[in-house]
Amino acid sequence: MNIILLGPPGAGKGTQAQMLVEERGMVQLSTGDMLRAAKTSGTEMGNMVAGVMARGELVTDEIVIGLIREQLQNGSSGGFIFDGFPRTLAQADALGGLLEEFGQTLDAVVELQVEDETLVARVVNRAKDAVAAGRAARADDTAEAMTTRLMEYYKKTSPLIGYYHAKGMLKTVDGLGTMEAVRADIANALQA
Ligand code: AMP
Repeated sequence: MNIILLGPPGAGKGTQAQMLVEERGMVQLSTGDMLRAAKTSGTEMGNMVAGVMARGELVTDEIVIGLIREQLQNGSSGGFIFDGFPRTLAQADALGGLLEEFGQTLDAVVELQVEDETLVARVVNRAKDAVAAGRAARADDTAEAMTTRLMEYYKKTSPLIGYYHAKGMLKTVDGLGTMEAVRADIANALQA
């Protein structure tokens, strides 16, 4: 089964993807993680996107589509979880083409709904927790970058809700509950 986790920054996509990896042996494809890894290892592409990411803007479609293409080539017997991809209609179209090319199908798109105030609070707390644990906080986990990240989400990513609804694939889950409650709701949505 291949699924997309869709939702604004801080909705819990990464956390829920991790749970699906542990429970179902799926492979998580997080373009954000891939881009941060490229930044950390100092590749040319990583250096190019660092500023864009720190501001909370989206990197180009070409870059992230290329990253996903590389990963799809590896295959996954447990299926893929697309986490933070696609984020634009062009990326959604490209994903459709790539899945077809690799003989795969998309089974469901799970939208995690959380309101803005909670999202900002979660992200700012995530940064505080990282610092308290002696880790570096993400450069974009600030209230300022969050304003841009949310704007990018509403302008460029939220149209995907209609796109996948029209394809009959959209499942909407309340992302406000505990991690465990959201996990259970996702499991139900995927069975339905
Ligand atoms: P995330 O970890 O998913 O919150 O992504 C962190 C940042 O990486 C985003 O704010 C963007 O700058 C960039 N990014 C991640 N995924 C994408 C994508 N699919 N399209 C464009 N930019 C992305």
